[in-house]
Amino acid sequence: MRLKDRKNIADLMLEAFGRAFPEASCSLDQDAPERLAVRGILSAQCTDVRVNIVSKELFEKYPTMAAIDEAPEKDIMDIIRPCGLYKAKAASIKAFAHLYEGQWGGEVPRDTDSLMKCPGVGKKIANLIVGEVYGIPAVVVDTHCKRVMYRTGITDSKDPLAVEKDIMKVFPEDSWISLGHEAVELGRTYCRARAPLCGECPLSSFCARRTGD
Ligand code: SF4
Repeated sequence: MRLKDRKNIADLMLEAFGRAFPEASCSLDQDAPERLAVRGILSAQCTDVRVNIVSKELFEKYPTMAAIDEAPEKDIMDIIRPCGLYKAKAASIKAFAHLYEGQWGGEVPRDTDSLMKCPGVGKKIANLIVGEVYGIPAVVVDTHCKRVMYRTGITDSKDPLAVEKDIMKVFPEDSWISLGHEAVELGRTYCRARAPLCGECPLSSFCARRTGD
């Protein structure tokens, strides 16, 4: 599809999203920037609802990054086990707390390159953090966003980094943060991985409706 046509779909998509999901926002708890970052790490292959429950327990026991930095990794593992991938996630959380307390001087970095120096923090989580914490335009391409952008014809790729680049070419910068949340809403509600509800979908009149994820 030509760039012009993709831009046209992007414009229509933003209009439809505005009407369908005016309240779309990040569903992770956001009581502190560094805690949001930890929740981002926990969110890989886990629901936001579960992440919020599990992180509440984690922060009750270890309220600060200094406390997490000092905590036994095994104890972190035991607490976060319900989120899955708990060994890798515990190592990432410990690494994040250590960087935060040391190299980062008690602040969450504003740039994705610094954040991605932490093991387990990829572009998706880094974009989530800079977008939600600092309002810096960044697109969070999760599994829902990836699927929606492919099916609608915004991208030909299924690689998250390439999808992100294609999004950035056709959507205005000031839409990037909310776009990720809106795409998640659409993916959960209509554009499900299996049996999408195209007949009821607010994008139905202009979507390319390509099959696959
Ligand atoms: S019309 Fe169908 S394929 Fe297109 S975004 Fe909606 S649910 Fe997904």
